[in-house]
Amino acid sequence: MFLFGHLGIGKTLLGPISKGLPNRYLLVGTILPDLIDKPLYYGATFFSQNHGSVWSSISGSRTLGHTALFILILSSLTWIKKSKRIAALFLGSAIHLLLDAVSDALLGRDFSESLQTVILWPLLGTKFPDFPYSSLSEHLNIMDRPSLILEELIGASLLIFNSRSMTTETTVAISITEVKNKPDQGTN
Ligand SMILES: [Zn+2]
Repeated sequence: MFLFGHLGIGKTLLGPISKGLPNRYLLVGTILPDLIDKPLYYGATFFSQNHGSVWSSISGSRTLGHTALFILILSSLTWIKKSKRIAALFLGSAIHLLLDAVSDALLGRDFSESLQTVILWPLLGTKFPDFPYSSLSEHLNIMDRPSLILEELIGASLLIFNSRSMTTETTVAISITEVKNKPDQGTN
């Protein structure tokens, strides 16, 4: 799953349990594991010219940000700081891992050998699974898979639908506030 799939589907799935949490942080949360891990891996690959082996543990584009440990740290910080922003990042990141697992299953990837090993890191060893793509462009080449195209289309549609309904809700809320604040002209 790529950008729009995570943003649109992730945000929609979180809808019922994310009421009151800041929208922007929820959206960032839905892509936070990729925002951490992909620059980490491709940065290491670029600088080492050797598939990230400059840091031997960073051997793929799903590493630290895709672990249950990372989710655990975010949930602990939410509880300690009582922060709605961190809670939004925590929920967004958790749904990201779930959607990665579903997307892998649709692509026919072996879940037990890839994402499961990452999620349980470091319980199954400190080495992350090797990533099959040598560059970001090679990674983006899989975008022509029908399931990925469908995920992106559904995600983008949900984002548009959600932003429209949010605009409508805001407009209604402003109208109600204006009516409430309007001086009563019928009495004197
Ligand atoms: Zn991911």
